[in-house]
Order: sequence, then C-alpha cells, then structure tokens
Amino acid sequence: MASKKTAAKKKIKVDKDQARQRVKKIWPLLKKTYPDAKIALNFSNPLELLVATILSAQCTDVRVNIVTKTLFKKYKTPADWADADITQIENDIKSTGFYRNKSKNIKAACRMIIADFQGKVPSTMDQLTKLAGVGRKTANVLLGNVFNTPGIACDTHVIRLSRRIGLSENSDPVKLELDLADIVNKKDWTMFSHLVIFHGRNICKARRPDCQNCPIAEYCPSANDPALW
Ligand code: SF4
Repeated sequence: MASKKTAAKKKIKVDKDQARQRVKKIWPLLKKTYPDAKIALNFSNPLELLVATILSAQCTDVRVNIVTKTLFKKYKTPADWADADITQIENDIKSTGFYRNKSKNIKAACRMIIADFQGKVPSTMDQLTKLAGVGRKTANVLLGNVFNTPGIACDTHVIRLSRRIGLSENSDPVKLELDLADIVNKKDWTMFSHLVIFHGRNICKARRPDCQNCPIAEYCPSANDPALW
C-alpha cells in the first residue's frame, strides 16, 4: 500500500543569545502596539480568577466572561462551590465545555482551599499546583495577575508564537516556560505573556499570520514563510 508523504515542516534552530536579543527588539514594539494588554478574563478576587481560568480551558475568554457574570453572583466563597451539588455546578458551567471535569476540579480545589489553606486561594506555585485542575499555566495566571509575582502563562498563543519568533524550540509548556524564563527579564514575565497573547489573537493568528502588517516582522525568522507556521 502506497504511503502518503507529507512535506517536512521547516524548523527554526534557536540560539539562546539570539533569542535574548530578539526579545529585546520585539518588547518595545509589542508594548507600543498593545499598550492596554492585560488578562481578558473578568474577575474581582483570586477565587474568581481561579475558577475563570479553569473554565477557560478549551473555551474562549469571551464565553467564560458571559458565564461568570451570573456565576460569580451565585458562588462567592470556596464553601459555596464545595457545598454545591455537582450536577448544579455542571449545569451552571455547561456552555464552557468539558463541564464534568471542570465541575469536579473546581469543587475539589475549593474543598482543598478550605481544608489546607484556611479558605484562601494560596499564593505560591507549589501550593497552587496542589489544587485539583491547576497546572503551571493556571498557577502562573494567578501569580501574575492577583499575587503580584511574575509568571509566564504558556497558553496556545504563547506556545505558537514563541516557536515562530524563534524564542524556543519547545512546544511542551513546562520546557517552554523555562526557556522563556531564561531570556525574558523576570519583572516582565506577566506582561510578556499578555503581549504575546494579544499579538497571537490580533496578528500572528494560528492559520494565517498577517506578516505584512506585523510590527515585529523585521525580527521574526518565520516572517512570510508558511513552511515555518
Ligand atoms: S512576522 Fe508573521 S510569523 Fe512572525 S510574528 Fe509576525 S505575524 Fe507572526
């Protein structure tokens, strides 16, 4: 049986020093392009951001914000989630997708917050990643946006753009996070994630990046080269 041949995708070889230089060049350009870059999820306290971030897996931030608008009026404390009937939670968050798993994780995380953290969302990477449904990405979102601790949240945009721009060869989020932590100033980690996510949503889109109108094209090794997208 004849086997189908697929065209080999080109790969960018990343040199750490070059990657560091690229970050220095693109940082002011992205800051200028997206002066209002910030997290797109709506929240008013750490618990709300924790829940919103869990809900945002495989779901748009716009949809999450629609759901949380009423959700956060109903569930205000960890006990509200921990004591709620699981099928009720499932119904309340259904439209965000993967609702069974998300409900289970939110309820379990809130139980642990009550049992182990005096009812308060913990504020360190080690503690946060002990909570159900919380990996490094979610923990970094919380660290950077409510606990004033720099964090690089490696979501789908950060993974795609970091490879395209030649900042890392890794697509594994944990390895990528370590690569980026090595080349971006620590104080800038949180804003770096926001800027890259904004750029991924607006210009460097997954299927068709708009290299013609990209402010960082001059420094991007993938510019106008579909074999590298
Ligand atoms: S030049 Fe193209 S591939 Fe590179 S960051 Fe800009 S839009 Fe993305």
